[in-house]
Amino acid sequence: MFYKITLKFIMLSFFFSCNSVAQKKESFKIQKTEAEWKLELTELQYYVMREEGTERAFSSPLDKNYSEGIYVCAGCDVPLFHSKNKFNSGSGWPSFDVEIKGNIAYTIDYNIGVARIEEHCANCGGHLGHLFNDGPKNTTGKRHCINGVALKFISKNE
Ligand SMILES: [Zn+2]
Repeated sequence: MFYKITLKFIMLSFFFSCNSVAQKKESFKIQKTEAEWKLELTELQYYVMREEGTERAFSSPLDKNYSEGIYVCAGCDVPLFHSKNKFNSGSGWPSFDVEIKGNIAYTIDYNIGVARIEEHCANCGGHLGHLFNDGPKNTTGKRHCINGVALKFISKNE
């Protein structure tokens, strides 16, 4: 219930401030030129993280990874998700029901014609994926649908 109300409020505030959101550039701690990102990221990572692309479903080896560890941002290494919060959504993309608080920021995008909650790294601005409300009901009900290519997995045993 609480989440539903919060989400409605977030959606409404975005609808009403649409113009200012589009014009105001969020500023991030990590600042790099597009040329620098192109050098550091693979072609697919650049497409996903800097151009808000989406990797092919079931293409990421991390989709089926259930080892213990932590998932960090592929752009800046900030921790984003714990392995204990990963679940198999069947969507073909790594899915999590809880994020590491404070390291992910949200916007609304209309890239496929409907409003979706876009999520990106709060530290470097790299696009990660989208947030949906069809996650596990017994936990948060949230599904962070994340491009595996935007993540790096650090195994607990490393
Ligand atoms: Zn980052």
